[in-house]
Amino acid sequence: MTSRWHVLGAGSLGGLWAARLFRSGCDVELILRDQQRLADYKSAAGLTLTEDDQVNCYPIPAVALDNCGPVSRLLLACKAYDAPAAASQLAPLLTANAEVILLQNGLGSQERVADLINARCILASSTEGAFRQADFSIVYAGHGHTWLGDPLRPAPPSWLEDLQQSQISHDWTVDIVSRLWRKLALNCAINPLTVLYDCRNGGLREHTDEVAGLCAELSQLLQACGMPDAATGLHEQVLKVINATAANYSSMHQDVRQKRRTEIAYLMGYVCSAAEQHQLQLTQLNELNTRLCHYLDTHGLPRH
Ligand code: NAP
Repeated sequence: MTSRWHVLGAGSLGGLWAARLFRSGCDVELILRDQQRLADYKSAAGLTLTEDDQVNCYPIPAVALDNCGPVSRLLLACKAYDAPAAASQLAPLLTANAEVILLQNGLGSQERVADLINARCILASSTEGAFRQADFSIVYAGHGHTWLGDPLRPAPPSWLEDLQQSQISHDWTVDIVSRLWRKLALNCAINPLTVLYDCRNGGLREHTDEVAGLCAELSQLLQACGMPDAATGLHEQVLKVINATAANYSSMHQDVRQKRRTEIAYLMGYVCSAAEQHQLQLTQLNELNTRLCHYLDTHGLPRH
């Protein structure tokens, strides 16, 4: 067994990782927001994971952020908009040679976190699906795969064996940045339209021209950003995802329906500012971002 895993954010994905690491015998400690959240967790008597209709409660040790000891390996599992603030709070606790795994969707927050801490930052892109049915009660909704990589240091870390032992399906990859861009493009081609048309992913089969136009602009942007692999076959993959997940609501649609803040700034916001930096006129993407921001305004949700 390698050294302790700290998991910040006992939400959907953090809880899913923590429960699997803990039950396979890894040393895991959850870092919760404050003493109140720690008291809530203690009343729940642990973290409950529902998986294939099996419900198990795991008494994973937990600590409040203001009482946490040194951290050498951290899974940062909060939303992209919370990650920089959480990283600043954790910065003084990180040991020399600390490693931080960033699970955030989209792009933008990873760079901000890396600037705030003195640690090796490992980027992750996951197709796992989990949601919170109640506080500290996670449902493992869709088995997926997680790609991990470090654009600055291609050598894989030794703790990948913990993931293996915990049956967390993963691969170490040297092209993690390209994978994150590809996922960003897929999300931008699908999620905002599902919000604006208030439909499941399959509903976009009624809007094929719009999807095709967005994919063309996203491919142009990926090329300009030096990510040609992420651009290859984008439109075909978007259509495949729409068909394969036709019955699902996108994560952005679920956030909006549940009146939760979205990660739009790290998806459409990031894409639109990257286009501006490269002086690309991507009309359809800009219009989509404007329509989405207006939609969020009228529904009382933040644009960032
Ligand atoms: P989530 O269920 O909302 O969980 C986020 C957790 O972070 C919450 O438990 C929250 O605590 C905690 N948190 C935020 N700031 C904190 C702080 N300063 N200190 C301690 N805890 C803090 O979010 P999620 O769905 O797991 O998503 C996490 C990231 O993974 C997102 O970027 C998402 O896009 C990505 N992702 C998620 C999935 C999925 O299936 N869920 C799949 C792929 C990627 P409170 O409970 O106290 O609010």
